[in-house]
Amino acid sequence: MSDQQGVAIVTGAARGIGKAIALKLANEGKHIVVSDILIDEAEQTANELEKKGIRTLAVKTDVSNADDVHSLIADTVNTFGTVDILVNNAGITKDNLSIRMSEQDWDTVLDINLKGTFLCAQAAAKVMMKKKQGRIVNIASVSGILGTAGQANYASSKAGVIGLTKTLARELGSRNINVNAIAPGFIITEMTEKLSDSVKEEYLKQIPLKRGGTPEDVANAVHFLVSPESSYITGTVINVSGGMVL
Ligand code: NAP
Repeated sequence: MSDQQGVAIVTGAARGIGKAIALKLANEGKHIVVSDILIDEAEQTANELEKKGIRTLAVKTDVSNADDVHSLIADTVNTFGTVDILVNNAGITKDNLSIRMSEQDWDTVLDINLKGTFLCAQAAAKVMMKKKQGRIVNIASVSGILGTAGQANYASSKAGVIGLTKTLARELGSRNINVNAIAPGFIITEMTEKLSDSVKEEYLKQIPLKRGGTPEDVANAVHFLVSPESSYITGTVINVSGGMVL
């Protein structure tokens, strides 16, 4: 796979980190499938990406729904003939202390963040295995490594994404499919904008580089993990956290 080629699916790509990843890969000449539960925003993002001279497809996908995921892969193959790269980025938070967390909030976060990552990887791997080539990058979180008070559902889902990444790396390595994870720390997006000032200050105290990250910081790590330069790297977790995790 040369830097200029490839078809990449990015889930949750309408905005935030997913949009930055889609933009980075589009700048490299890859064709982009903009998958998101928000179809209007996904189409808007796809239109912006097409200005880079690449082809795009916007697909409405709830990653926790197996039928939606099946359609995402089928639409991609029908349009572009293949899938080279899958970036599992879609993710949500529904924070509360464990003793107050509802069963529904637990299930929703696990369904989208962990089951959604599994369903997309499973469906994409079936296409990648046939041609013995592929890259899967799962967006985890430092919460899945450190644990975060108030995020039992989210931290558990992201720890699960790391276990899933390592398992898939072992299962798919013989088919030349590399599977890696990125664990972002405190990245400035709509997801973190809603945190209180005191929580943001608390995060900054834990970051040796003394700043929040940008969506582009995460996109740069994805760029590396789908590039030829990382062809001997699989099953790893790259922390993009300004040193929050050492
Ligand atoms: P974001 O701004 O909320 O963007 C996430 C996108 O995913 C949104 O467009 C969202 O749509 C979409 N989405 C939500 N549920 C979905 C579903 N069921 N199926 C498909 N798409 C869905 O979040 P972000 O900050 O960019 O985060 C992106 C990823 O990075 C997530 O996996 C997150 O856990 C991870 N991460 C973020 C940070 C951070 O500091 N921001 C740190 C560590 C890890 P809606 O608007 O409808 O929800």
